[in-house]
Amino acid sequence: MLGYFITVIYLLTTVNQGLCDDGYFWHVTDFHYDPTYETTSLSCKESKVGDQIGTFGDMWCDSPWILIESCVQAMKKFKRNVDFVLWTGDTILHADVEKINHTFNAVILDNTTDVLKAAFPDIPVYATFGNHDAYPTGQFPPNNTLLYNESLARWRSWINDDTQDEDFRNGGFYTVKTSYGIRIVALNTNFYYTPNKLVSPEGDPAGQFAWLTETLGNATDQNEKVIVTAHISPGVTPKPDIPFFSDQNDKLVEILRQFADIIVAMHFGHEHADAFKVLKNTAGVPTAPLFLAPSIAPLRFGPMHNPGVRLVKYDRITGKHIDISQYYLDLNAANRAGVADWKLEYTASDAYNIQDLTASSLTALIDRMEDSDSTEFKTYRKFYYVSPPENLTEDCDWKCHAVIFCGFTEFNLDDVKKCEKKMVSEAIRMTSWKYLYGFLVFVLVTYIHT
Ligand SMILES: [Zn+2]
Ligand SMILES: [Zn+2]
Repeated sequence: MLGYFITVIYLLTTVNQGLCDDGYFWHVTDFHYDPTYETTSLSCKESKVGDQIGTFGDMWCDSPWILIESCVQAMKKFKRNVDFVLWTGDTILHADVEKINHTFNAVILDNTTDVLKAAFPDIPVYATFGNHDAYPTGQFPPNNTLLYNESLARWRSWINDDTQDEDFRNGGFYTVKTSYGIRIVALNTNFYYTPNKLVSPEGDPAGQFAWLTETLGNATDQNEKVIVTAHISPGVTPKPDIPFFSDQNDKLVEILRQFADIIVAMHFGHEHADAFKVLKNTAGVPTAPLFLAPSIAPLRFGPMHNPGVRLVKYDRITGKHIDISQYYLDLNAANRAGVADWKLEYTASDAYNIQDLTASSLTALIDRMEDSDSTEFKTYRKFYYVSPPENLTEDCDWKCHAVIFCGFTEFNLDDVKKCEKKMVSEAIRMTSWKYLYGFLVFVLVTYIHT
């Protein structure tokens, strides 16, 4: 009898442990810290800012220090005990190249590294470079450089693995295994960003593609699950456009597809928008979810948006992404009140009524967004701009909807354009039928009444 009870208690404990493997991590991106915000406001778009810029930031400027500090303090307040933090770059302000220099940028990188270290002293932050972090902006050489060497010194305690030094010094990429066994693959995708003049648009800068293939191959052999992180994402933006040189976009996508079955998620910044995509594996099955986190910096080259930072809930063993809690700052309200009151904007499970963030759940959600009038698509658009000030959400017509919809799963510009054309002609066909049907009903009613 006693043995029976012991067995039952053991099983209950085991099951309970199985249910308690949830872990959390923060993803913060695009601080774009402007140390001149209160003085010469280098980052502000002069034609757009009003008479006075707000204490906590302005929709048409990069971040003042007080905004960055309030964000990091909010992260600490909402969830201090996270397993790690992803920090996907663009820490430097938007400014003309002659107004800044390497030393100016280095101080910004030091300050932001220090504020994260102070808030999360025992927690690794997996940092990657954004296109603005190089000087001159966007110029990433495929070999040893001051930025890589200085940043290795800044971030060494987080990477905590000397065997990564050579790759980091040459290209700013690395891989680490988290304490729970999930592998982080941190890439420098700025090599492939079209403004970069220091690489060949067809080549393999710093051998990162070869390294990625080898790293993901080893992870497969070791039965590991992988989180990929970098600043710029492959795939098509809503413009529609691809940020990368075409060949390199396709090459990166091809490698990620090849190993999609072990990639539990990919996390990027750069777009200053809240978005996601789903990558299919080589068999055409939606397999690897891809998330774009919104920026801390309010400035965006498009409609206004608020600053946002996200907390991800995941299964520590399988790596499965369970939920996103998206936090944000209503910037105008903060400036009016004189207090930066960061709040929960949404949780993905509630907002989209989904069980988890796996590729299959996201694919079902994408299906529900095929209708541009669907609540899900409208919700997606609102969160895309981080709940922007009222009446500022841009209209999204058929074409706009089609590009976004196609871009959820297509990662090549030609494929998106083909898909978009098909969707728009289908929409025109349906509308023509609707009008024809209305006309016939009108004729019939008129005929009956005469
Ligand atoms: Zn940015
Ligand atoms: Zn960027």
